[in-house]
Amino acid sequence: MSSKLKTIILKRGKEESLLRFHPWVFSGAIARLPENIEEGETVRIESYDGKTLGIGHYEIGSIAVRMLDNSETAIDTAFYTERLNQAWALRQRLGLIRPDNSTFRLIHGEGDFLPGCVVDVYGDTAVLQAHSPGMHFARMTIAEALTLLPDAGIKNVYYKSETTLPFKARLDPVNDYIIGGYKTNIAIENGLKFNIDWLKGQKTGFFVDQRDNRSLLQQFSKDAKVLNMFCYTGGFSVYAMRGGAQLVHSVDSSAKAITLTDANIELNFPADTRHKSFAEDAFKFLGRIDKGMYDLIILDPPAFAKHRSAVKNAMIGYRRLNAAAFEKIAPGGILFTFSCSQAISKEQFRLAVFTAAALSGRKVRILHQLTQPADHPVNIYHPEGEYLKGLVLYVE
Ligand code: SAH
Repeated sequence: MSSKLKTIILKRGKEESLLRFHPWVFSGAIARLPENIEEGETVRIESYDGKTLGIGHYEIGSIAVRMLDNSETAIDTAFYTERLNQAWALRQRLGLIRPDNSTFRLIHGEGDFLPGCVVDVYGDTAVLQAHSPGMHFARMTIAEALTLLPDAGIKNVYYKSETTLPFKARLDPVNDYIIGGYKTNIAIENGLKFNIDWLKGQKTGFFVDQRDNRSLLQQFSKDAKVLNMFCYTGGFSVYAMRGGAQLVHSVDSSAKAITLTDANIELNFPADTRHKSFAEDAFKFLGRIDKGMYDLIILDPPAFAKHRSAVKNAMIGYRRLNAAAFEKIAPGGILFTFSCSQAISKEQFRLAVFTAAALSGRKVRILHQLTQPADHPVNIYHPEGEYLKGLVLYVE
């Protein structure tokens, strides 16, 4: 099979990162592209002196190849089935597959050795997202393999790649079920129920990556007055309610997000008057509230820096946002503050929060340093896979 594949030859010396198992080939490393190569094709990679370096998916762009394997394995149904089985076994080992937890990430791209592919599982539905043309073409193979995972019980596969595939590839993907169809969209995370809107929601419909951090928040919630900024589906709010918060206020600028939050609170705590939500801009809301109203604040904004070019403005954004929270949080308050921008490093985020703290003049201590959970693993050879950063701060 591999003999039929086209071969991409690298420039002299450019094989080094692949020899260190980094899973990308940048376009600048390529000496020669084969004729008539098409986006999404599976290709062999060879060093300048003729050594086979592995196999990957080709695409046009700065990342030209996403590596699938460092040998000449056939990229077929058996290949995807094996990777999916390994990923499933890891989630089992992590204790994430339980009657009271049916929500988790099954495939985290490079972190599960399937670059360009994301799969989140919500009960018997898997949401599949392609970030590369190669994975777009493999979608049916992956979807079928998902439904065949032993004991997984996946019946529906929703394909959601309208916004994640490179626009220039002109693949025009349509968000739709590619296997099965709508059954129920209620998923369970740590015993809490959530309406998951994978049809129209952000990402695959839910921020699966905050599960562990929400659990930690619950432990701080007893009798607290909680402000959940950028609440989206109200994940942190629902956990705070379970933790025994005195009151929980959820804020999001999107009216749709507020509807989702209200529905999720109602689903778990019907007619509970401790919760209130506000469809309002976060900066405006923080600006108008009185000092000391809240003693537990969550700041989980969207990625302020989607690209390296936006880092400077993003740093200003994180500083302003955190400064507003430091100004308003009650003495003895706890601040959960996050950044999900891949382009902002842990150190940069900490610097922005540090600067905001210093501006407030308050005594601030770091209690926890948070990151993404174990079902979003980071391939050690691909540090770019680490994106979520959080700090839990004690503010006196
Ligand atoms: N904390 C959420 C995820 C947050 S996603 C969770 O655990 O699921 C970011 C959210 O911020 C989105 O819902 C978006 O609508 C909202 N948002 C973006 N800009 C905003 C702003 N300026 N003010 C308030 N909300 C905003």
